[in-house]
Amino acid sequence: MDVLIKGAKLIDGTGDSPSLNSFVLVRDKKIIDIGSQKKLPKHLEKFRVLDFPNGTILPGLIETHSHMHCTGNKESLERMLLDSEETLIMRSVKAMRESLLSGVTTMRDLGSRNRVAFSIKEAIVNGIIDGPRILVAGTPITTTAGHCYFFGTEANSQEEILHAVRRQVKLGADCIKIMSTGGNFTPRSNPRRAQFSLQLLQDAVDDAHRLEVPVASHCHGTEGIVNSVSAGVDNLIHCSWISSNPSEGYDYREDVVDEIADKGIFVDPTIALGHLRQIDDPEADVFQPGGVFYDLDARYEMLRDMWEKGVRFISGLDAGMYMGEFGTHYNSVLVMIEKMGVSPIDAIKCVTKNSAECLGILQETGTLEKGKSADLIVLSDDFEKNPDSLQKVDTVINKGEIVKENQIPLI
Ligand SMILES: [Zn+2]
Repeated sequence: MDVLIKGAKLIDGTGDSPSLNSFVLVRDKKIIDIGSQKKLPKHLEKFRVLDFPNGTILPGLIETHSHMHCTGNKESLERMLLDSEETLIMRSVKAMRESLLSGVTTMRDLGSRNRVAFSIKEAIVNGIIDGPRILVAGTPITTTAGHCYFFGTEANSQEEILHAVRRQVKLGADCIKIMSTGGNFTPRSNPRRAQFSLQLLQDAVDDAHRLEVPVASHCHGTEGIVNSVSAGVDNLIHCSWISSNPSEGYDYREDVVDEIADKGIFVDPTIALGHLRQIDDPEADVFQPGGVFYDLDARYEMLRDMWEKGVRFISGLDAGMYMGEFGTHYNSVLVMIEKMGVSPIDAIKCVTKNSAECLGILQETGTLEKGKSADLIVLSDDFEKNPDSLQKVDTVINKGEIVKENQIPLI
């Protein structure tokens, strides 16, 4: 369908100031023109017009960190362990639709059980189900008893880790997810300590890069962050800077931050989950000394410092984990604005352009530019003045198809 979208403001995702009274022309799944309404081309009779005289046009959001078959509530681990593969697939189908209707037009799954994520991606590509553009890691690579071992890929030696990387690539992985430290989701896995030696991590990264596949590294503890940066991963996940010693709290390393910035490693701080969990359950273990969220204000300060040192941030909710409900990725943007003090325009750049660049798809999506995929959302209000309007995306266009219009789902 040919569509003309008009809006009071347009934020293109590049970090530039918004354009006023803009238009976007969509044809054959692509943006074919974009500009000021004063220079609107003539002969647009065949275009369906969507007019938002007070609204803001934005690129579709990118969620770089989901676990598509997880419930997003306190039962997340239990359900994942007990549910059948069929149930996991059905839950994923629901999550894809909810995400798309909330404005997420691209999603990277960073770890699901067995082959669930591959089949969901295939179903979306083949038009069997509705959903965002999907990139998948398959099963994360971890150690025996390590973080998310129940997803299916444990590796403890060089031979095993190379096999693990190659197997995920063979299955169709768009990236490799490696668990460099333990995590909260996995009892007894110890988020403070590195799971792999630097050498093993290096072997995995080198082999993934040989196959031209990027590596995203889960790391809470500083030990794991330091190893990941040395090994040359492309993307740090969480980056919580907790000390290996539980009584020491954080172990923030400014020298390593400089290296992260110099190497251009993208950081996904999964910033919303700590904030949301604190509201829901402030007495939980993660807020106690030695826990990954034990002092959130100090964490936001570290993230601000990383930002000022030039680290490039991307946006991941960790959807599927407790308090990471699908369809609520707006929290990642809002918490970044509120707690890190990032401007609304910069927060949008993180959730669009930066995330697309990290995923290697910037030539296709992530900004509103002529020739790119028509992935865009419209809010009925001025996003800069009212960022909360992102919670209720008015209209969603996914690869040129209107999937939600005036709050009404069309899928
Ligand atoms: Zn995760």
